[in-house]
Amino acid sequence: MREKKLFLSSPTMHDKEMGFIQEAFDTNWVAPLGENVTKFEEELASYVGAGFGAALSSGTDAIFLALKLLGVQRGDIVFTTDLTFAATCNPIMYLGAVPVFLDSEEESWNMDPKVLRKAFDKYPKAKAVIVVNLYGTPAKLEEIRNICQEHHTPLIEDGAESLGAIYKGKQTGTFGDIGIFSFNGNKIITSSGGGMLVSDKEEYTKKAVFLATQAREPERHYEHKEVGYNFRMSNIVAGIGRGQLSYLDEHIQRKKGIYERYKQAFDSIWEIEMNPYLKDSKPNFWLSCMTIKEGCNVKPIDIMLALEEKNIESRPIWKPMHLQPVYKNKDFIKVTEKESIGGDIFCRGLCLPSDIKNTEEDMEEIIGVIKGFFS
Ligand SMILES: *Cc1c(COP(=O)(O)O)cnc(C)c1O
Repeated sequence: MREKKLFLSSPTMHDKEMGFIQEAFDTNWVAPLGENVTKFEEELASYVGAGFGAALSSGTDAIFLALKLLGVQRGDIVFTTDLTFAATCNPIMYLGAVPVFLDSEEESWNMDPKVLRKAFDKYPKAKAVIVVNLYGTPAKLEEIRNICQEHHTPLIEDGAESLGAIYKGKQTGTFGDIGIFSFNGNKIITSSGGGMLVSDKEEYTKKAVFLATQAREPERHYEHKEVGYNFRMSNIVAGIGRGQLSYLDEHIQRKKGIYERYKQAFDSIWEIEMNPYLKDSKPNFWLSCMTIKEGCNVKPIDIMLALEEKNIESRPIWKPMHLQPVYKNKDFIKVTEKESIGGDIFCRGLCLPSDIKNTEEDMEEIIGVIKGFFS
């Protein structure tokens, strides 16, 4: 077994991060707030082309506040992508609202606009929609946004996995009324942990910051008219984020290289397909994934175990929310009569090691293990 573990996607640090942290120490702006926070907000908003940003303690908090800003309350229906990480929909539950899970299409693995139309037929009064760009691959964002607008329903874009990805020339995270990003440990850039809420409406980011700092009214004494939260990002964390942001383009290039290396290696193997993306999109290729064609008797778990044996990390595809015990009583909408598209991708797919520190030799080893199943 190799001594050095090969990771799915671990933090990749450079030189600049430490500089921003050092500056925070030198000026004693370790806490509270400080220049790194405001600069990180400006720099990230400017990178994605959003008007404003609010730096928060996590992507999950950002989704929670986005729902709150849009007025989601107890009992409200919120449509969301079924094939995603639980962090997308858990905040709906924190508010006592009701998630309705929408099946995916096969071209990008994301929310199917046809399913969204069907969902609006069934629940015309839905209060909000959360669309996810899974594994860094843009959804059919324009179509989804248009459907939401037809129904006068606000859209939240969960760009936690898709920072830097582009759809029709526009950055993901900027298609909805509010977008959110995550800088958690294994995302394409990391601040060690944190999130950002972005919007073209300054009233949203201002209100987000207000709620995230205990909803303290602008009075000399401590005055509160609303229940607040402690969700603000620290100045140290923001320093790491600022440093990382300057390497985002480089990370995307390297992630893309990994995806293309796999694609080329598996080109001649009919049983393997790489995760697809739309022609008019540029994913950030956060995680490379593959599915095994129906009719082949190799199972994703066989490959995961063989990689694990060599100290190489891989993972299952996110298990769809409608199959999760905690969400089993929630509605799930799909267009096909057969099994759900998301359920099928979950059964036949896996996430491949996509760490940008893996070398060509490492890639050859990983690819060798996988190819061994299909000779
Ligand atoms: C990581 C992730 C989140 C949550 O972000 P955190 O910063 O970890 O709270 C939300 N949605 C998706 C799709 C994610 O992958």
